[in-house]
Amino acid sequence: MAEITFEGVSKVYDDGTEAVLDFDLQIPHGTFMVLVGPSGCGKTTALRMVAGLEEITAGTIRLGDRVINDVQPKNRDLAMVFQNYALYPHMSVYDNIAFGLRLRKIPGREVRTQVEKAAATLGLSDLLKKKPRHLSGGQRQRVAMGRAIVRDPKAFLMDEPLSNLDAKLRVQMRAEIARIQRDLGVTTIYVTHDQTEAMTMGDQVAVMRDGLLQQVGTPQDVYAHPRNLFSAGFIGSPAMNLIEARLVQRAGELTVEFADTRLRLDDRPGNHSQLASFVGRSIVLGIRPEDMEDAALIGEAPADRRIGARVDLCEVVGPEVYLHFTVDAPPALTDDTRALAAETGDEAVEALEHQAGGKHSAFVARVNRRTAAREGANVELLIDTAALHFFDPQTGNALS
Ligand code: ATP
Repeated sequence: MAEITFEGVSKVYDDGTEAVLDFDLQIPHGTFMVLVGPSGCGKTTALRMVAGLEEITAGTIRLGDRVINDVQPKNRDLAMVFQNYALYPHMSVYDNIAFGLRLRKIPGREVRTQVEKAAATLGLSDLLKKKPRHLSGGQRQRVAMGRAIVRDPKAFLMDEPLSNLDAKLRVQMRAEIARIQRDLGVTTIYVTHDQTEAMTMGDQVAVMRDGLLQQVGTPQDVYAHPRNLFSAGFIGSPAMNLIEARLVQRAGELTVEFADTRLRLDDRPGNHSQLASFVGRSIVLGIRPEDMEDAALIGEAPADRRIGARVDLCEVVGPEVYLHFTVDAPPALTDDTRALAAETGDEAVEALEHQAGGKHSAFVARVNRRTAAREGANVELLIDTAALHFFDPQTGNALS
């Protein structure tokens, strides 16, 4: 069984950079685990420590029952797939896939069987005689996968393997890699900065920031229950709207309020005990774009379930419309939200600081394409108040 376990693993580079800190993660046998996070968060370093390409400063990595900290890379029985496929240009597809097997002195007939089996799995059977330069990017990526598959490794380690492909091919290869992994049932660690890739491919995702693990869970779980502001803002596209608001208790009713808006929370499932201690105080309110709908499409929409907005921009995206508007409340400004803005670029950080100064926040709602909302016009948005998210503005941790 090839379970991979990190126990208190840290990596400090010689120049003092703390790339990974006290990392605990258990990857059960056969799991497709995606390490996701912004550039520089330590995901490649974590993967390279499993591969044995980077020394471990502290902690333990196990493969099954065996501690592999000091095992030579070649003896770990793992296969890596990188973004630059590292194919041998002068060799045919067949020879590229067969290379590792021949190196291990596997008999010719066995090599043929394995290469043909892998080629069939990968849809490469008709291309075995071609040289890499005659292949498309997606086909080259498949050859690289083929080389990994025939080694019959204990685990696959993949570092942004799709980042060199164009958008359409990337979507196709995402599905293909996920299918192949499922068919083979080989434990896989997949590194990406692309949250969509993480959400669509992983059985489990591990969100990282600044060398620290933020949250681990199924994509659905991390999406529905982000543990902190960073996970909340990083996972999901368009991102969760995050603003400063106040929790108020009025005549036995709990409400969340900002500007002229007052949303009643009585239909929130579960208990409010964690929220109770924030009554009368600022909190960070999170609303996913899809938890808003054009109220005109619904019919009845009580006033305490609505946000009134003036539409700044109407973006038709396939079957949906993204309504961009401004809310008269400051955006949540914390280390996490600054870090998230920094991912988009310096301009996004400036915009965030500017909005906070001016007490306005950019919002996006994902509404049905039947909406009649138009740019410059007012719209009433019905909020699914049972789906609201709340965070402690000091710690960034999710409440309730
Ligand atoms: P990316 O997606 O940009 O590759 P990442 O999340 O994979 O980012 P790492 O490559 O693991 O991040 O890097 C984590 C941190 O360690 C970064 O601050 C990086 O600059 C630093 N780092 C990586 N390799 C070295 C090295 N050999 N020496 C010193 N610092 C390093």
